Amino acid sequence: MTSLSVSPAVPRSSAAPTVPAMPTIGVLALQGDVREHVAALEAAGARAVPVRRHRELAGLDGLVLPGGESTTIDKLLRIFDLRDPVRALIADGLPVYGSCAGMILLANRIVDGSDGQQTLGGMDVTVRRNAFGRQVDSFEADLNVAGISDLPGGSPVRTVFIRAPWIEDTAPGVQVLARIPQHATDGAQVPAGAGRIVAARQGNLLVTAFHPEITGDARVHELFVSIVRER
Ligand code: GLN
Repeated sequence: MTSLSVSPAVPRSSAAPTVPAMPTIGVLALQGDVREHVAALEAAGARAVPVRRHRELAGLDGLVLPGGESTTIDKLLRIFDLRDPVRALIADGLPVYGSCAGMILLANRIVDGSDGQQTLGGMDVTVRRNAFGRQVDSFEADLNVAGISDLPGGSPVRTVFIRAPWIEDTAPGVQVLARIPQHATDGAQVPAGAGRIVAARQGNLLVTAFHPEITGDARVHELFVSIVRER
């Protein structure tokens, strides 16, 4: 595969890059629920474009790593020569949102990865793959998500977990946005503020263990679009 430059064809001015009112956000389209993210991003006021090739990374204001199977996406990233360019964009501060498998890909460390599984990294967290166990492969819960539910008139977000990971630990600088109380998985109540971390932000990186793209509620994507506009 030829290696193409990610630099935009038009030279950047020396001024800080400005994000247009309607930012262009790529959705990594190697595997997973790409169409749903495209629709949710459009509902959130962005232009969304599927990304399969190196050259399609040029000019993006942000990138979404969808859910799917992190081991497969990891392999395909390498096969399609996208791993290094995406890592470079993350290091450069490109806003990236990872949902479920995408959250695993953005984690610096994973527990229960498959043999040889690598992540892109970027967020200083440890993520446990398939953390909720077999008996609760899939479930839904209403969760308060910081930056969404705490806005004036805000409300909990309906979250869908599908063979989801959770965040086992976070380094300083990582902001926890949502935790799932234990009762959502095994019936036992835990105090508010306890429970597994299922959404977080570090700088321009946003992750959720759940899938907001399949609920028809675009607020998580709106939060990501606002991070893209802030940059
Ligand atoms: N269990 C999957 C993985 O390890 C993630 C599942 C999902 O993205 N819905 O990649």
